[in-house]
Amino acid sequence: MCIKKMPLGISVMIAFLIAISLFEKFGSSQVEIPSSSPTPYVFTMIRPVDNWNYTRIFCKEHEAIDMIDNEGGLNIYAVADGQVILVSSVINGYGNRIEIKHENGFISTYSHLSRVLVKKGQEVIAGSVIGLMGKTGDATGVHLHFELIDEGVKINPETYFAD
Ligand SMILES: [Zn+2]
Repeated sequence: MCIKKMPLGISVMIAFLIAISLFEKFGSSQVEIPSSSPTPYVFTMIRPVDNWNYTRIFCKEHEAIDMIDNEGGLNIYAVADGQVILVSSVINGYGNRIEIKHENGFISTYSHLSRVLVKKGQEVIAGSVIGLMGKTGDATGVHLHFELIDEGVKINPETYFAD
Protein backbone atom coordinates (compact mmCIF):
# COMPACT_ATOMS: atom_id res chain seq x y z
CA MET A 1 0.00 0.00 0.00
CA CYS A 2 1.24 3.37 -0.95
CA ILE A 3 0.34 6.52 0.99
CA LYS A 4 1.23 9.81 -0.55
CA LYS A 5 3.08 11.90 1.95
CA MET A 6 1.11 14.95 3.03
CA PRO A 7 2.70 18.32 3.65
CA LEU A 8 3.30 18.83 7.37
CA GLY A 9 0.99 21.86 7.66
CA ILE A 10 -1.99 19.85 6.40
CA SER A 11 -1.20 16.93 8.72
CA VAL A 12 -1.11 19.22 11.74
CA MET A 13 -4.37 20.85 10.71
CA ILE A 14 -6.10 17.47 10.30
CA ALA A 15 -4.79 16.33 13.69
CA PHE A 16 -6.11 19.56 15.19
CA LEU A 17 -9.58 19.05 13.64
CA ILE A 18 -9.69 15.45 14.89
CA ALA A 19 -8.74 16.62 18.37
CA ILE A 20 -11.57 19.19 18.34
CA SER A 21 -14.13 16.65 17.17
CA LEU A 22 -13.01 14.17 19.83
CA PHE A 23 -13.29 16.86 22.46
CA GLU A 24 -16.80 17.70 21.31
CA LYS A 25 -17.77 14.06 21.47
CA PHE A 26 -16.23 13.03 24.77
CA GLY A 27 -15.25 16.23 26.47
CA SER A 28 -18.70 17.61 27.06
CA SER A 29 -20.49 17.00 30.31
CA GLN A 30 -23.62 15.72 28.58
CA VAL A 31 -24.20 12.05 29.31
CA GLU A 32 -26.18 10.09 26.80
CA ILE A 33 -29.36 8.77 28.44
CA PRO A 34 -30.26 5.24 27.35
CA SER A 35 -33.53 5.09 25.46
CA SER A 36 -36.52 4.44 27.71
CA SER A 37 -36.22 1.07 29.44
CA PRO A 38 -39.40 -1.05 29.55
CA THR A 39 -41.68 -0.43 32.51
CA PRO A 40 -41.35 -3.29 35.00
CA TYR A 41 -44.38 -5.61 35.09
CA VAL A 42 -46.54 -4.99 38.14
CA PHE A 43 -49.39 -7.35 38.98
CA THR A 44 -52.53 -5.53 40.03
CA MET A 45 -56.09 -6.74 40.46
CA ILE A 46 -59.56 -5.27 40.26
CA ARG A 47 -62.13 -6.29 42.87
CA PRO A 48 -63.96 -9.52 42.00
CA VAL A 49 -67.26 -8.16 43.40
CA ASP A 50 -69.20 -4.90 42.89
CA ASN A 51 -69.96 -2.74 45.95
CA TRP A 52 -67.65 -5.03 47.81
CA ASN A 53 -67.52 -5.54 51.51
CA TYR A 54 -65.57 -8.08 53.53
CA THR A 55 -67.30 -10.66 55.66
CA ARG A 56 -64.01 -12.31 56.60
CA ILE A 57 -60.49 -11.01 56.19
CA PHE A 58 -57.23 -12.83 55.54
CA CYS A 59 -55.67 -14.41 58.61
CA LYS A 60 -53.80 -17.53 59.66
CA GLU A 61 -57.02 -19.51 60.09
CA HIS A 62 -58.59 -18.20 56.88
CA GLU A 63 -56.06 -17.65 54.10
CA ALA A 64 -58.57 -15.95 51.85
CA ILE A 65 -60.95 -13.04 51.83
CA ASP A 66 -64.73 -13.42 51.89
CA MET A 67 -66.64 -10.77 50.04
CA ILE A 68 -70.24 -9.84 49.45
CA ASP A 69 -71.90 -7.23 47.26
CA ASN A 70 -73.51 -4.67 49.58
CA GLU A 71 -76.27 -4.16 47.03
CA GLY A 72 -76.96 -7.84 46.49
CA GLY A 73 -75.29 -8.17 43.09
CA LEU A 74 -74.04 -11.63 42.19
CA ASN A 75 -71.52 -10.98 39.40
CA ILE A 76 -68.05 -12.37 39.97
CA TYR A 77 -65.28 -10.77 37.91
CA ALA A 78 -61.85 -12.02 36.87
CA VAL A 79 -59.42 -9.89 38.88
CA ALA A 80 -56.80 -9.78 36.11
CA ASP A 81 -56.15 -11.16 32.65
CA GLY A 82 -55.44 -14.87 32.63
CA GLN A 83 -56.46 -18.36 31.68
CA VAL A 84 -59.03 -20.55 33.42
CA ILE A 85 -57.09 -23.58 34.64
CA LEU A 86 -59.76 -25.22 36.76
CA VAL A 87 -63.52 -25.34 36.87
CA SER A 88 -64.74 -27.63 39.59
CA SER A 89 -67.52 -28.40 41.98
CA VAL A 90 -67.25 -29.51 45.58
CA ILE A 91 -63.54 -29.64 46.35
CA ASN A 92 -63.05 -29.65 50.13
CA GLY A 93 -66.19 -27.63 50.63
CA TYR A 94 -65.30 -24.96 48.09
CA GLY A 95 -68.40 -25.75 46.07
CA ASN A 96 -68.36 -24.50 42.51
CA ARG A 97 -64.89 -23.08 42.06
CA ILE A 98 -62.90 -21.35 39.33
CA GLU A 99 -59.14 -20.99 39.22
CA ILE A 100 -57.42 -18.49 36.91
CA LYS A 101 -53.69 -18.39 36.24
CA HIS A 102 -52.20 -14.97 35.59
CA GLU A 103 -49.21 -13.68 33.66
CA ASN A 104 -46.94 -13.50 36.71
CA GLY A 105 -47.79 -17.08 37.76
CA PHE A 106 -50.27 -16.14 40.51
CA ILE A 107 -53.51 -18.11 40.66
CA SER A 108 -56.76 -16.47 41.75
CA THR A 109 -59.59 -18.69 42.95
CA TYR A 110 -63.32 -18.06 43.32
CA SER A 111 -65.39 -20.43 45.45
CA HIS A 112 -69.00 -21.17 46.52
CA LEU A 113 -70.31 -19.97 43.14
CA SER A 114 -73.91 -20.62 42.21
CA ARG A 115 -73.03 -20.60 38.52
CA VAL A 116 -69.83 -20.96 36.53
CA LEU A 117 -69.80 -19.03 33.24
CA VAL A 118 -66.38 -20.00 31.87
CA LYS A 119 -64.74 -23.19 30.67
CA LYS A 120 -61.36 -24.66 31.48
CA GLY A 121 -58.72 -23.33 29.10
CA GLN A 122 -60.62 -20.13 28.36
CA GLU A 123 -58.70 -16.86 28.26
CA VAL A 124 -60.32 -14.11 30.29
CA ILE A 125 -59.60 -10.44 30.69
CA ALA A 126 -59.76 -8.42 33.88
CA GLY A 127 -63.34 -7.53 34.64
CA SER A 128 -65.06 -10.23 32.63
CA VAL A 129 -67.94 -11.93 34.42
CA ILE A 130 -66.83 -15.49 35.14
CA GLY A 131 -69.58 -16.69 37.45
CA LEU A 132 -72.30 -15.82 39.93
CA MET A 133 -71.94 -15.63 43.68
CA GLY A 134 -73.55 -18.41 45.68
CA LYS A 135 -73.27 -20.65 48.70
CA THR A 136 -72.37 -24.02 47.20
CA GLY A 137 -70.05 -26.25 49.21
CA ASP A 138 -69.34 -25.44 52.83
CA ALA A 139 -70.85 -21.96 53.03
CA THR A 140 -73.50 -20.70 55.41
CA GLY A 141 -74.49 -17.72 53.30
CA VAL A 142 -74.05 -16.27 49.83
CA HIS A 143 -70.53 -14.87 49.50
CA LEU A 144 -67.34 -15.17 47.50
CA HIS A 145 -64.38 -16.98 49.04
CA PHE A 146 -61.39 -15.52 47.18
CA GLU A 147 -57.85 -16.86 47.39
CA LEU A 148 -54.63 -15.70 45.77
CA ILE A 149 -51.93 -18.32 45.40
CA ASP A 150 -48.24 -17.76 44.70
CA GLU A 151 -46.38 -20.99 43.92
CA GLY A 152 -48.72 -23.03 46.11
CA VAL A 153 -48.78 -20.54 48.98
CA LYS A 154 -51.98 -18.66 49.78
CA ILE A 155 -51.06 -15.00 50.11
CA ASN A 156 -52.95 -11.93 51.30
CA PRO A 157 -54.59 -10.47 48.18
CA GLU A 158 -55.11 -7.06 49.74
CA THR A 159 -51.90 -5.40 48.57
CA TYR A 160 -52.55 -6.31 44.93
CA PHE A 161 -55.87 -4.55 44.55
CA ALA A 162 -55.47 -1.37 42.55
CA ASP A 163 -58.08 0.58 44.53
ZN1 LIG B 1 -63.83 -17.88 53.15
